[in-house]
Amino acid sequence: MKILVVGSVAYDAVETPEGKRVSQLGGSASYFSVAASHFTDVGIVGVVGRDFRDEDLRMYEAHGIDISGLEIADGKTFRWAGDYMQDINTAVTHETQLNVFADFTPDLDERHATAPYLFLANINPSIQLSVLNKMSSRPKLVACDTMNLWIDIARPALAELIGKVDALMINEGEARQFTEDDHLPTAARSLLNQGPSTVVIKRGEYGAAMFNHAFNFAAPAYPLATVVDPTGAGDSFAGGFMGYIAATGDTSEEGLRRAAIVGSTMASFAVEAFGLDRTRNLTHEDIAERYQSFVNLTRFLPLSSSSGLPRRPGS
Ligand code: AMP
Repeated sequence: MKILVVGSVAYDAVETPEGKRVSQLGGSASYFSVAASHFTDVGIVGVVGRDFRDEDLRMYEAHGIDISGLEIADGKTFRWAGDYMQDINTAVTHETQLNVFADFTPDLDERHATAPYLFLANINPSIQLSVLNKMSSRPKLVACDTMNLWIDIARPALAELIGKVDALMINEGEARQFTEDDHLPTAARSLLNQGPSTVVIKRGEYGAAMFNHAFNFAAPAYPLATVVDPTGAGDSFAGGFMGYIAATGDTSEEGLRRAAIVGSTMASFAVEAFGLDRTRNLTHEDIAERYQSFVNLTRFLPLSSSSGLPRRPGS
């Protein structure tokens, strides 16, 4: 197993200007693992309830996702309800039912505990920390995500977690909330100073900004005509980002830049349809083609060496 992910596995009720879905398979670990499965082997550690559908278990298996760490417990699967009616970039949460996640204690077997890459997807930071602590050796790269709920109710555990990861993925609103700094570049510096060597700030339709002690990088969002359902965009970004890094082992500056574009590519597919409908049906060619569209979208040449930056005549 190349990447181990712990996070929510959920049934979501989602409303967007494009429509409504109830009991839609979601959760941070679902979006992450399906996106990453296009590039490498992924295993999930998490919990679902007895109401979890067989067809959803089979969907993971069809993507080669190892679900031996997905416990089926007495009780109901985690449920989240939200809408994007006011602002397509920001979910308004109506309801979060932790259900079987309320007393989940992750249990890692040998294969899970030795995974070289670890993604601590959005879930209670104490669960994220317990998975990190149960790894038998420090993975090559540990990344995490979070959300406003945990900043509100579990800040000390979240701060401890941020101090232990290599890469932090966070929404711009959450970065502002956590650092109490409205200005993103200084908020990102403050997060870098708390531990991670890379901070990716996700900005919805404005793309993602990657900050590192050595360099900064801006990945645009793909200019889609319609965003159908933004749920899972961040986790799909993380799945593409980590999937690329785990598959190539490349954590150089160039590798991280490419990983951010693979992440943006997977996020752009995620939002084109409800839930996992687009991401789970992608071909490798679809992904490679869209990556190339990103290259074209951002390509520009240095100023010509002979003439440089034009000057107003006489200045
Ligand atoms: P994203 O849109 O990438 O931020 O993630 C969307 C997913 O996060 C949805 O499928 C939800 O099931 C899941 N989610 C929402 N609230 C929480 C929470 N408090 N903890 C863990 N996962 C959550």
